[in-house]
Amino acid sequence: MSGWQLKTPEEIELMRAAGLIVFGALEEIAKIVAPGVTTAELDRIAETYIRDCGAEPAFLGYQNFPASVCVSIDDEVVHGIPGKRRLAEGMIVSCDVGSLIDGWYGDSARTIPVGEISAEDQRLLQTTRDALFKGIDQARAGNHLFDISAAVQQHAEQAGYSVVRDLVGHGIGRKMHEEPQVPNYGRAGGGPELLEGMVLAIEPMVNVGTNAVTVDADRWTVRTKDGAKSAHFEHTVAITKNGPDILTVKE
Ligand code: MG
Ligand code: MG
Repeated sequence: MSGWQLKTPEEIELMRAAGLIVFGALEEIAKIVAPGVTTAELDRIAETYIRDCGAEPAFLGYQNFPASVCVSIDDEVVHGIPGKRRLAEGMIVSCDVGSLIDGWYGDSARTIPVGEISAEDQRLLQTTRDALFKGIDQARAGNHLFDISAAVQQHAEQAGYSVVRDLVGHGIGRKMHEEPQVPNYGRAGGGPELLEGMVLAIEPMVNVGTNAVTVDADRWTVRTKDGAKSAHFEHTVAITKNGPDILTVKE
């Protein structure tokens, strides 16, 4: 618990500014996702938006990551590097964006359909998004950290999917990754008690098949070991006296 950085209400408002920039960048991405668009174009529109807001893209240069957006298609789970690859009808594309402004970070991700996608892929996206919101609903003072984890896991597994265990959510604030780690699996009631002023990036990664993942030779792209599809939704969430406050959406 000692490593947890509690934020004041004023600091949470500064984080909301970072969060709204991330939201806006994801909205810009979603507007142009279509067959034929390259993943580099998604990166470019988001970076331009972030810089026009007076912020910095948080991922660019982070541990030498070469872009502003992580773009991960189909069986790619997270951390895909944008480039010349073109989107095609029926793909699902996960886009993860971070921003930094006035010393505070925001972090959010969503998986976006490219054109028409299958009913099964729609179910994967809906289930992963719903799992995120089940987790967010547990982000309340007096609950325990793994209440979030258990809610995410139960929702995904009840739908017949698996949650990735090798990658987790995280505290966020003046650093992009702060304590604690926020796993997407766990036992309700476990983990440290949640307190007002904690801010967490909650981010279920849900796989159709096995939860096992591998990392490509590029040392970034994480993909499912069995080649089945994966989805990823993330919000930055403050724990306040009024309950969970999602900082990466516009009211
Ligand atoms: Mg993220
Ligand atoms: Mg994150």
